[in-house]
Amino acid sequence: MGLAAAYQAVLDGHEVDVLEANAEPGGMAGHFDFGGTSIERFYHFVCRADGPTFQLLAELGIAEKLRWKNTSMGFFSGGRLNRWGDPISLLRLRGPSLITKLRYGLFVLLCTRKKQWPELETTSAKDWIVRWCGTDGYERFWRDLLQYKFYEYANGISAAWIWTRIKRVGSSRKSTMQEELGYIEGGSQTLIDALVSAIKSRGGRIHLNSPAQRVELPDAWKRRYDAVKNIGICCVIFKLKRSVSPHFWVNVVDTSHEIPGVIEFTNLRTVGPTIVYVPYYMPVTNPKFRWTDEVMIDDAFDCLTKLNPQLVREDLIEAKVARLRHAQPVCEVGFAEMLPPVQTPIRGLQIADTCFYYPEDRGIAESVRLGREMARATIE
Ligand SMILES: Cc1cc2nc3c(=O)[nH]c(=O)nc-3n(C[C@H](O)[C@H](O)[C@H](O)COP(=O)(O)OP(=O)(O)OC[C@H]3O[C@@H](n4cnc5c(N)ncnc54)[C@H](O)[C@@H]3O)c2cc1C
Repeated sequence: MGLAAAYQAVLDGHEVDVLEANAEPGGMAGHFDFGGTSIERFYHFVCRADGPTFQLLAELGIAEKLRWKNTSMGFFSGGRLNRWGDPISLLRLRGPSLITKLRYGLFVLLCTRKKQWPELETTSAKDWIVRWCGTDGYERFWRDLLQYKFYEYANGISAAWIWTRIKRVGSSRKSTMQEELGYIEGGSQTLIDALVSAIKSRGGRIHLNSPAQRVELPDAWKRRYDAVKNIGICCVIFKLKRSVSPHFWVNVVDTSHEIPGVIEFTNLRTVGPTIVYVPYYMPVTNPKFRWTDEVMIDDAFDCLTKLNPQLVREDLIEAKVARLRHAQPVCEVGFAEMLPPVQTPIRGLQIADTCFYYPEDRGIAESVRLGREMARATIE
C-alpha cells in the first residue's frame, strides 16, 4: 500500500520519501531465500476480480508477467481427501444429507452472484451461514475454518467480510466446473521490484531500516486504532520431494490439527521442488503462538501425511516458519462503524492498513487501490 501510494505520488510529480521499518520492502507480500528458491513468505494468488493489480502491472510494463492456471480445491474431512469446489464434488461428498448439500450449493452460488448485501454488516457470519446452510451445514463446512482462524473471535466475525471473501474466489472461475487462479511470474517480488524501481527512477527515495517512531494524534483518535483487534500467523513453509495432492488449496477439517487449510503453492506456480504452506492463524495470546519452529513443523508435517499417507520424513527437504503478529484484522459485526476515517484530523496525514478497505479482505489489489487513492487525496 505504501509503495503504491509512493508510486502514484511520484507519477503526479511530487517529492517522495518512503520510510520502511524492515531491511527489505514488500511487507506481507515480500519474498525470502528458501534454500536457493526465492519465494513469498506467505502464499499469494491472484483472482479475476483483482482489477487494481492488473492496471498497475500494465502501467509498470509487466502485464505479461501475469499468468492464469486451472486449479482445483480439496476438502479433507472424515479422514478423506475429497475434490471440492464444484457441484459434482459437492454431490459426491460422503456424509452430509442431500438437503445440506443443496443448501450449501445455493448459498455459494448466491454469494458469487449478488452485487450488494447491505444487511450483512449487522449480522455475524455464523448466524448468516446457519440461516442459509442450516446448523449441520455450518458445522460441517464452516465452523472449523472460522474457529481455526479466529478462535475466541470466531462467532463475532462479520457476515459482510466472509461474503466478500467467498465472492472474490468464487468469481475467479472459467466455468462452474473449473476454477482459475492467477500468479505473477517470479512471485509477488516481481511487482515489488518493479514498483521500487519505478519510484526510484522518478526521484523517489526508499529508506529501509527506518521505522516511523511516533505518530502524534489526539488520544480519542488513537483509541479508535487500538480498538481494532488483529490475529497473528505462524506460517510453515515446506520444500518437499513429492507432491501432497493435486490441489492448490485444501480445506482441512480435522480436530487433531488446528489448521484451516493447506496450500500446495506449486500446483499454481512452478518453482522446482514442491512448495507447501501450512498457515496457523491465531490470536497472539494463544499459547500455540509460542510453539517452537520444530514443534510447529512436526505438527504441520503430520497433517500433510494424513492428506497423503505416502509422504514420509525423507521427502522433507527443508521447512521454515514465518511469523507475523498483525496478519489479519478481526472484522467483527459492525466493523465499518468502528473504523476511523482514513483522513485524520491532521491536514495531510492519512492512516490506513489492510482493514481500511473492509469489507474486502486483505489483498494486494485492494492495498494497491487504496494506497493510490490516498496519494491522490493528499495531493489535491
Ligand atoms: C498468509 C497470508 C496469505 C495471503 N494471501 C494473499 C493472496 O493470496 N492474495 C492477495 O492478494 N493477498 C494475500 N495476502 C494479503 C497481502 O499480503 C496483503 O494484503 C498486502 O501485502 C498488504 O500490503 P500492505 O502494504 O497494505 O501491508 P503490509 O504488507 O503489512 O505492509 C506494511 C509495511 O509497513 C512496514 N511498517 C510497519 N510499521 C512501520 C513503521 N513504524 N515504520 C515504517 N514502516 C513500518 C512493514 O514493515 C511493511 O513493509 C496474504 C497475507 C497473508 C499474511
